Amino acid sequence: MSPLALAVDIGGTKIAAGLVAADGTLTDRRRTATPAGAGGPAIMAAAVELARPLAARAAACGIGTAGVVDPAGRIASATSLLTGWAGTDVKGTAERALDLPALVLNDCHAAGAAEARVGAARGARTALVVAVGTGIGAAWCEDGRVRTGRSGTCGSLGHLPAPTSAGLPCSCGALDHIEAHASGPAIERAYRAASGRNLPLAAIGRLAADGEEPAVQAIARAAALLGRVLAGAANLIDPDAVVVAGGVALLGPVLLEPMGAAYRAEALPAPGAVPIVPAVLGEDAALVGAGLQALSTLTNGAS
Ligand SMILES: [Zn+2]
Repeated sequence: MSPLALAVDIGGTKIAAGLVAADGTLTDRRRTATPAGAGGPAIMAAAVELARPLAARAAACGIGTAGVVDPAGRIASATSLLTGWAGTDVKGTAERALDLPALVLNDCHAAGAAEARVGAARGARTALVVAVGTGIGAAWCEDGRVRTGRSGTCGSLGHLPAPTSAGLPCSCGALDHIEAHASGPAIERAYRAASGRNLPLAAIGRLAADGEEPAVQAIARAAALLGRVLAGAANLIDPDAVVVAGGVALLGPVLLEPMGAAYRAEALPAPGAVPIVPAVLGEDAALVGAGLQALSTLTNGAS
């Protein structure tokens, strides 16, 4: 029997765990709420408690987590949702508690690796997988492996400058990064400013599909900026596939059509001809990717 990886996904609201096989099959999936305000040790304790019953059946452990993960498997910086998560030694703590070799990577990197290996970009040698949700991140994958860069920051597409000078503050503190214009909260803010109504993203998407003008405009403006930034990234790296994931991508044609048009107008001929495809693995992508990455890195002959 080929070895299994114990996969763990630590997010701002929930922690998930499961067993991942070399073909990407996920079994024994389980989840618990993240004790997000309780600090790094409490979050690790919750993750270990959830994962420990599966550890005896696994050859390695792969952990995807919110935040920038340094090459030693520690959290270099984290979202303000996870109080005290920055500085946590995720790799060392997991290895001691679960008695398995562990690999830790950013959850967006993990999800991208899964889409590249067994999802929407399967078979493509190189892929840019972009997640557009509460924030915007990306994974740059080559031969199914995600590139993390020197510090773990590689793929921070949300912090590329948007082609506008509106002066909107980004979560990182800079002005007019694309995350400040095209994330879910950014679209909600733009709609609220135009209509006076405070609605969640999915409701704005439904209004846009019905042709309500402020909703159409809020989404189309974000989509056009996002398309141009995606094209800039594609011009830089010349990928075989571009995949979009996350809650904003789920808005469907009201987002994807203006985004695609802006992308094609901005991209050079070869990257402009690459189709932009939706992600297929959904909310399990980070679990599957963390497991696959652990199998290929920490075990011999698994994949
Ligand atoms: Zn930024």
